[in-house]
Amino acid sequence: MNEPSLPTLLQAASERATAYLETVRVRPVVPSQAALDRLGELHHALPQQGVDAMEVLRRLDEIGSPATVATSGGRYFGLVIGGALPATVAANWMATAWDQNACYRWTSPIAATLEDVALQWLRDLFRLPGDVAGAFVTGASMASLTGLAAARHALLARIGWNVEAQGLYGAPEIRVVVGDEVHVTVLKALSILGLGSERVIRVPTDARGRLRAECLPDLDARTLVCLQAGNVNTGDFDPAEAVCRRAKAAGAWVHVDGAFGLWALANRDFDALTQGFTLADSWATDGHKWLNVPYDSGIVLVRNAVHLRAAMSVNAAYLSEGEAGEREPSHYTPESSRRARGVEVWAALLHLGRDGVSDLVARFCRLAKRFADGLSRHGYEVLNDVVLNQVLVSFGSPETTRAIIDALQADGVCWCGGTVWQGRPAMRISVANWATTEADVEQSIEAMLRAATRVSAMGKAPT
Ligand SMILES: *Cc1c(COP(=O)(O)O)cnc(C)c1O
Repeated sequence: MNEPSLPTLLQAASERATAYLETVRVRPVVPSQAALDRLGELHHALPQQGVDAMEVLRRLDEIGSPATVATSGGRYFGLVIGGALPATVAANWMATAWDQNACYRWTSPIAATLEDVALQWLRDLFRLPGDVAGAFVTGASMASLTGLAAARHALLARIGWNVEAQGLYGAPEIRVVVGDEVHVTVLKALSILGLGSERVIRVPTDARGRLRAECLPDLDARTLVCLQAGNVNTGDFDPAEAVCRRAKAAGAWVHVDGAFGLWALANRDFDALTQGFTLADSWATDGHKWLNVPYDSGIVLVRNAVHLRAAMSVNAAYLSEGEAGEREPSHYTPESSRRARGVEVWAALLHLGRDGVSDLVARFCRLAKRFADGLSRHGYEVLNDVVLNQVLVSFGSPETTRAIIDALQADGVCWCGGTVWQGRPAMRISVANWATTEADVEQSIEAMLRAATRVSAMGKAPT
């Protein structure tokens, strides 16, 4: 095997990655059929002898790059998919070269320190007290799992039950209250934690998808309430102020799923929406959505560090304890060995600064409004109040809306998914990428109108 030198290899990787990012904006958002067909070339038996690193890289780029979905290009509006700020891609490369295990402070002083700093900045941005604890996990799903594990600990410890040691068999019951629009990942976390996804009390929601506070059941000190900041369809926020005040008085725990919406706390123009969310007990959010760091990156925050530690820490003779007063990362996360996710979060926050994060939030919401205004000007119905970055559009009948979404996805200029909002099929636009510009929005609206024209022409054609 003819191994390239390290500089040759990494230079080549950098050149290929740069070329990818410089062309991703002009290629179709979805891979071509030819690109998908080439994936077959990857299916071969494990070679007896390996191939050299340049060849590995070549195959990855030549077969792999065309088969990516161009989510980093600025015109992908499906799910809630952020891009990756160039500063965070660079930081991620550096961290990959370091290959640190972020499990302990002694396995990586730099990873632990950047987590400390990033957590301090996050508490600051989200207007949370300085002693709120936190951890870096894979995404909001895992962040909710972790926050809810802390909640489960706290609610049961209070009545003398050690859930970590004794499990849930025979334990006093915890009541779980969620809004009817709860995200599926919160239900999944509850099911993994033995709290059940179906034994929850579902509180009705209003026309904007917000939990109706007046429909809350009585809360008590064995109740866990899950709120959301950022409905995946409408982008709207549950009424946290009213719920948290009642929960506090009753001794209940409030967990917030703020996968993207929590970042609105960084911009005071959104105070009406974010009101009360800082009163909760635990929060889950993503770095890979609105903060625009590379996958995967989620963050959990818990008001009282004791509960998070109790739910997450382990002890074994060969694992040394952290120095007194220093945060030992592994005591706050479900994982042990872990990549240094704090690096990109730190890099994004340092690069953007307080104003940059605030501007990013404002920009996503401004561009979402631009979509809504543009489409309503052309006579299409926007089904939601565009309070954040989400837009739901109906093009008429359910069949027409579905056909237009299909036509748009095939067209490749941009990508939007479908959803059903309160019984009505709709196209769902989610703006979450730093790379999205006004021009991207205009170009995408044109593609939507083109798809609509095509579908209506097809409808009229004789079959
Ligand atoms: C994306 C999302 C999640 C799940 O986050 P992952 O990062 O995919 O784990 C949970 N809740 C809401 C509201 C989301 O938008």
